[in-house]
Amino acid sequence: MPRIVSATAEAIKQSAALIVAGDIVVLPTETVYGLGANALDADAVAKIFKAKNRPNFNPLIIHVADKTQAQGYAEFDGIAHKIADLFWPTALTLILPLKKNSGIAANVTVGLKTIAVRVPNHKIMREVIKQSGVPIAAPSANNSGEPSATTPAHAAQSLGDNAPFILADGACDVGLESTILDLSGDVPTILRAGAVTFEALQAHLPNLQIDNVSKQSADEVKSPGQLLKHYAPSLPVRLNAVDVANGEALLAFGSVKFMSFKSGGHVKDMNKEAYKNLSEDGDLDEAAKNLFMMLRDLDCALHTGIAVMNIPDKGIGVAINERLSRAASQA
Ligand code: AMP
Ligand code: MG
Repeated sequence: MPRIVSATAEAIKQSAALIVAGDIVVLPTETVYGLGANALDADAVAKIFKAKNRPNFNPLIIHVADKTQAQGYAEFDGIAHKIADLFWPTALTLILPLKKNSGIAANVTVGLKTIAVRVPNHKIMREVIKQSGVPIAAPSANNSGEPSATTPAHAAQSLGDNAPFILADGACDVGLESTILDLSGDVPTILRAGAVTFEALQAHLPNLQIDNVSKQSADEVKSPGQLLKHYAPSLPVRLNAVDVANGEALLAFGSVKFMSFKSGGHVKDMNKEAYKNLSEDGDLDEAAKNLFMMLRDLDCALHTGIAVMNIPDKGIGVAINERLSRAASQA
């Protein structure tokens, strides 16, 4: 089994040394746990793809300490400077033109002329980046297609010995992957919803668009990897549930006063392995933080499926619903 190591000063130093040596390390961030490697080292990056069985056409996000470091790898125009200055460090990834002679390994961008870059708002992750001195490519620390790992235990459970070293810092604060904003084209476009909302970005980008990936066919996907089925537990997921079928687990949101069994009875009598509430108070930030963790906890052979209550489609709820609809997708 992998080593789960608390993020002491010594463990941070060791993680940075492993990155420099060309190894992969599971790292905490505010979004989800990342499986990190030196983005300048193609062999190290190849280990990420292998460990999580990630399709080789799905590009990676690089994580850097600040905008100055990002400028070594990506071209910033006026708008990119403005957005980076306003938002970073945070759960916002920018797609920008890849800089010539950047040194970024070709398998990070899978040969694209653009690069995805983010400055995380997580003290330990930033320390690992600074001490390693390199940009860190890091997708979520789980097998490709599964719900993202938001705790060290879930990273360990998903990747097993494929990820020998896990730098642990508890559950992730945000719990969902970053918002992806494409600034490489004529019109700024959100390619993936996240904690940084459409409204927050639109206040500074009046012509902001959203790319609805679920409407694209595989050959016109602008953001490779945003394929339909993703974030999926092994059990079937049923959305907007207003009641629970026999054998189903329930992922609730807010009050369950009006939730009942199809066969009669009230869900308050469900046993606790079959019932989780994303947020009893109906708090969307709390729900985002709990989403992947609870989906993983309910995903066991005791149940026939997971029924999920309606989540309001506002604020970070948009990102929650986007993940859930892909988790429920049959495609
Ligand atoms: P993940 O690391 O799994 O959270 O996913 C990163 C996602 O970022 C990929 O699946 C792509 O959809 C997106 N991405 C990364 N690089 C690019 C790029 N150069 N252009 C467009 N999308 C990208
Ligand atoms: Mg992922």
